[in-house]
Amino acid sequence: MEKKDLKSMTLEELTAEVIAAGEKAFRAKQLYQWMHEKLAADFDEMTNLPKSFREKLAADYIWTSLETVDVRISGVDGTRKYLFCLEDGNVIESVLMRYKHGNSVCVSSQAGCRMGCRFCASTLNGLARNLRASEILEQVYRIQRDTGERVSNVVIMGSGEPMDNYENVVRFIRLLSAPEGLNISQRNITVSTCGLVPQIYRLAEEGLQITLALSLHAPSDEVRRELMPIANRYPLREVLDACGNYYEKTGRRLTFEYSLVKGVNDNLEEAKALARLIGGYHGHVNLIPVNPIKERDYVQSNREAVEAFKNYLERQGINVTVRREMGRDIGGACGQLRKSYMDRKEA
Ligand code: SAH
Repeated sequence: MEKKDLKSMTLEELTAEVIAAGEKAFRAKQLYQWMHEKLAADFDEMTNLPKSFREKLAADYIWTSLETVDVRISGVDGTRKYLFCLEDGNVIESVLMRYKHGNSVCVSSQAGCRMGCRFCASTLNGLARNLRASEILEQVYRIQRDTGERVSNVVIMGSGEPMDNYENVVRFIRLLSAPEGLNISQRNITVSTCGLVPQIYRLAEEGLQITLALSLHAPSDEVRRELMPIANRYPLREVLDACGNYYEKTGRRLTFEYSLVKGVNDNLEEAKALARLIGGYHGHVNLIPVNPIKERDYVQSNREAVEAFKNYLERQGINVTVRREMGRDIGGACGQLRKSYMDRKEA
């Protein structure tokens, strides 16, 4: 029989397992707290559990743990980028960003990605595999343990398309926000998607209070298709309808991410089209000057173009922020650290 993954279970599921193993129900709660609140590194730390029970757990279940391969610390803003190795040798990356309002961790939801966005390094080698809920959780746990500082915000914006690993991502969100665990408020959790329409509708029915961020990147299907292959499958109209429904069902304001690429999507005509497109939605726009990757020749919009784009949207009454580039000095964009590691290993 295939082993079950201990750290991906809810407290209810764990309780059923523990009882089936002939232990008292309160042991499940103790075990859950060791894993998800005290962030135990191994079974040896769980000193209030009988040794025989711990040995049984170690033998019968999968114990998810990540190996830190590399940590890079920015000298500019204290951002830390982690490269973690999974038990099967796949590597993933996670980022800790320190803001005035608290610490934010950006997690990966898949090893690699199959969405193929043209400017993104995470997708260059395709999808290796989905991450289990525990593997997404461990990224947050590891970083909190490593720094000794509480993580207050989590964004699912690392490598991978979270809506392409739907069940594990929703399970991750429930475990991360569970009162018996780290208890991170769902309002401080953001899931970013390139726009998988059926999953956006499904997410609206989960009863979650998380923020949905849509990677828009263009105001027309024509330009969007140049940047994002997924736009061939779901036209903007359908994607925005799904986002509108998410707002209706959850009351959560939307975020529209827009990476500015010089000469591709950053002129004033596009700003105008964008304002028309999303003016009616309850959302704000997050402008991201594209982070150039060496495998593609996309160039970052210059400062003036970014300012002009932002100012135009603001004059139309749209809420806009320009994403501060964090950790610029330590390995650039989403998926670049993993990619360069994999290239080195291959060589
Ligand atoms: N698959 C999810 C999460 C991806 S990463 C999604 O598509 O939303 C989070 C954001 O970073 C997305 O908006 C993605 O399009 C953007 N992104 C990826 N690579 C980038 C790069 N090199 N420069 C700027 N933004 C990038």
